[in-house]
Amino acid sequence: MKAFYKMSFDDLSNNMVILDCGTGLVEEHLWDFPILFLSTDFSAIASKLHDNKIPDLQIQEDIKNIHPFFEFSVLPLAFEENHRRWLIQWTERMERIQKELDHMVGDVFLSCEKTSTILQRFCRYLAKNKLIAAKYSKVADQIKAETLYYIGRNEFIPQLYAWEKYENMDQIKSYLMLGTDDMEAVLFLMIQRLAERNIELRRCEFCGKYFHPFSVRTVYCDRKNPETGKTCKEQAAKIKYEEKIAADEGRTLYQRRTKTYSMRVARSPAVYKKPDYLIWKSKASDALEAYTAGKLSYEQLDVILALPERKGQVTANET
Ligand SMILES: [Zn+2]
Repeated sequence: MKAFYKMSFDDLSNNMVILDCGTGLVEEHLWDFPILFLSTDFSAIASKLHDNKIPDLQIQEDIKNIHPFFEFSVLPLAFEENHRRWLIQWTERMERIQKELDHMVGDVFLSCEKTSTILQRFCRYLAKNKLIAAKYSKVADQIKAETLYYIGRNEFIPQLYAWEKYENMDQIKSYLMLGTDDMEAVLFLMIQRLAERNIELRRCEFCGKYFHPFSVRTVYCDRKNPETGKTCKEQAAKIKYEEKIAADEGRTLYQRRTKTYSMRVARSPAVYKKPDYLIWKSKASDALEAYTAGKLSYEQLDVILALPERKGQVTANET
């Protein structure tokens, strides 16, 4: 079968998709490629393309390194005269597809609504967006199916090679491969499988990118920040810890000031009036809440929590 992209869903029981990457078969999770595509920063590629100092070849290499299927998607470039123009058009098309799929995935796979399955939501989405449904039914025409045999990493092509040429016949495998020249068809096929298998996706609460949650409680993805080498999970934990320390500092200040003020009221009620204290305390607790929510700095909190000027006699241990 002649096709840029060849894949098989014969291993769906493990949520795996088998990809023919030219140099052999690669198995990955069903959600890996759609998530990678949806998380790709095409606008960064576009801005590189508008920077004349960056050569075409370098941008092409960047694209190829994203995934073998991205590498296949820029193969037609070999027949083009104007590489830059072709790459700009390629990026614009990818951005368009990404925007459309992002809308669909956001609506279908992220929903917290538990009364319907993802497949039901997917079909409802297509019914509501008839132009998209029509487009993808056309995309489906681009898909061919053929049973292919693989011996080890190589495709068995009986019309090309003699039977004797093949070694390791015990490793022969047969797959129903789906082939297409259109990356949009690849993505749609995978998203259809995700929907029918009711596979939930989420947006990472740290980086905002899609990921497949390990459990219902997972809210951060495992992507590593190339600069820090830390995953979103680790980075979020660190920030939470720092926030907790900061919140504790704010609470300590609040408790210390409240104690001082209430002692003054108890000792000299004629000088420090209780109603004034209560008004101050209510403002102070609002300020503490705002501080804990990150809406006030420690310095601002310190100003709001300032005690009234001392009047008359005070005890030495006041702070
Ligand atoms: Zn993340």
